[in-house]
Amino acid sequence: MRIILLGPPGAGKGTQSKNLAARLDLSHISTGDILRQNVKAGTELGKEAKGYMDKGLLVPDALVAKMLKDRFEQLDIKKGFILDGYPRALTQAKTLDEILKDKKIGIDLVVYLDTTDKVIIQRLTGRLVCSACGLNYHKTNMPPKKEGVCDACGAKLFQRTDDNEETVRKRIEVYKNEVASLIKYYQDSGKLHKLSADGSADLVLERIVELAQGK
Ligand code: AMP
Repeated sequence: MRIILLGPPGAGKGTQSKNLAARLDLSHISTGDILRQNVKAGTELGKEAKGYMDKGLLVPDALVAKMLKDRFEQLDIKKGFILDGYPRALTQAKTLDEILKDKKIGIDLVVYLDTTDKVIIQRLTGRLVCSACGLNYHKTNMPPKKEGVCDACGAKLFQRTDDNEETVRKRIEVYKNEVASLIKYYQDSGKLHKLSADGSADLVLERIVELAQGK
């Protein structure tokens, strides 16, 4: 199974991708996570990407495309995957098509997680992320049992530098500028399914699993 998860920042793509990957035994490919790992490790890519990420802007296509191609060389791709955070623009959808064509594989399902700006801002400005295992929490909606500490692995939680209200608003604007053409592209291919991202993470997961199992 090869799935693309689309949706605005804060729709829950990260949480859903992680849970879905565990449930269906798929690899989780998050371009945002790979970029953040590069920033943390201080690689050339990370140094170039950081400025864009901190402003809520897209990292240039060429950099992300190279990174994605490298990721698709890893063996775990073979068992199927969930793409989270890519593509974000039509040009990226076409780059992805080329990568997949080279590998002689295709996408089975594109899930579009839909929600409102109000929900996005509330979710992202309260989001906390585990520094070790990447699990997401929320200050009020889904707090950890012990403040500042991951329930699953005990590592410290942090707030992403781009999860402040100003940058979140910019990310929503960037997203809206690009998404219409992307949605049309996948609608035309007959693979797009829109789902509400509102409600609990478990409820949204069940909606996605039902869709995937119908494929
Ligand atoms: P995310 O974790 O998906 O919210 O991504 C965080 C940030 O990483 C975005 O605001 C962008 O700056 C950058 N980023 C992630 N994925 C992409 C992509 N496909 N194209 C360009 N920039 C990206």
